[in-house]
Amino acid sequence: MYDIIIVGAGPAGLTSSIYARRAMKKTLVLEALSYGGQIINTLSIDNYPANPNISGFDFATRLYNQAKDLGAEIKFEKVTEIMDSEGFKEVVTTKGSYKTKTIIIATGSENRKLGIPRELELTGKGISYCATCDGAFYKGKDVAVVGGGNTALEDALYLTDVAKTVYLIHRRDEFRGEEALVNALKNKNNIKFIYNSNVTKLNGDNRLESIEISGNDGSKKEILVSGLFVAVGRIPENENFRNVINLDESGYIIASEDCHTNVPGIFVAGDNRVKDVRQLVTAASDGAIAATEAIKFINNR
Ligand code: NAP
Repeated sequence: MYDIIIVGAGPAGLTSSIYARRAMKKTLVLEALSYGGQIINTLSIDNYPANPNISGFDFATRLYNQAKDLGAEIKFEKVTEIMDSEGFKEVVTTKGSYKTKTIIIATGSENRKLGIPRELELTGKGISYCATCDGAFYKGKDVAVVGGGNTALEDALYLTDVAKTVYLIHRRDEFRGEEALVNALKNKNNIKFIYNSNVTKLNGDNRLESIEISGNDGSKKEILVSGLFVAVGRIPENENFRNVINLDESGYIIASEDCHTNVPGIFVAGDNRVKDVRQLVTAASDGAIAATEAIKFINNR
């Protein structure tokens, strides 16, 4: 029987495990893919207090090692179900099942897809969801970025230093992301902004060769690009918990700043809960709060 099982080894989950282990709780972290969550793809983190210019990979690795050194058990198994049984909870994975007194769900979110034909087929063959991972493949080539949030703006900025021309396609006429990023992009001479438009078609035999852009006014045009970076937001990874935990209409776990879910003893931390600010620092903050609440729940029983 574990005291705390944490689902997800991103910044929220690993921070939870640090707090859990410092309180000497028997702690298991279960992660479906690799540690670090989405931050691992960030080239340089500039907004985490007292830690400027650290790479996402270095940040995640330091956090992972800190959790391990404190005695957190970390297993790479995908959680498929959680159950709230009488007196304990159960976490089922692709490899087995584990009993625990409390659960912290810190599964974060995954990339939203554009949802247009051939997107899946051409992923890895011109379509990418991570500019810092794949941008170097497009040195000196023409590429496009779609989206209007901070990720799209950061991706476009990164790609202007690598690619020949970067088209930034957004469905509205103003960006959702930070003005400082928009201004930095405007100072680049190889960026082309395409507003009020969507990517509606992907062309190419075995690789992406061009995209069709449809304007909100009904116009259509084709742009020759060898890469399309999709940065249209993220979707919370909560579907496997829907049978037990209350989600909102967008799939986020309903919880306030205390990280409690509707089930006593099950907590949520990070980007997959309802919240206004989804940042590294708020994910870490949630991790600390959820673990502290889980520890209180165990100690009060
Ligand atoms: P986001 O802020 O949700 O932005 C998603 C963008 O994609 C929006 O501009 C949206 O358009 C557009 N979009 C959504 N669905 C679309 C579709 N089907 N077709 C075309 N466009 C679509 O997502 P994000 O940029 O990934 O950022 C997620 C969170 O992480 C945000 O809170 C962001 O601030 C944060 N973040 C922070 C940093 C940083 O601080 N350095 C870096 C990256 C991300 P509309 O604007 O019209 O809705």
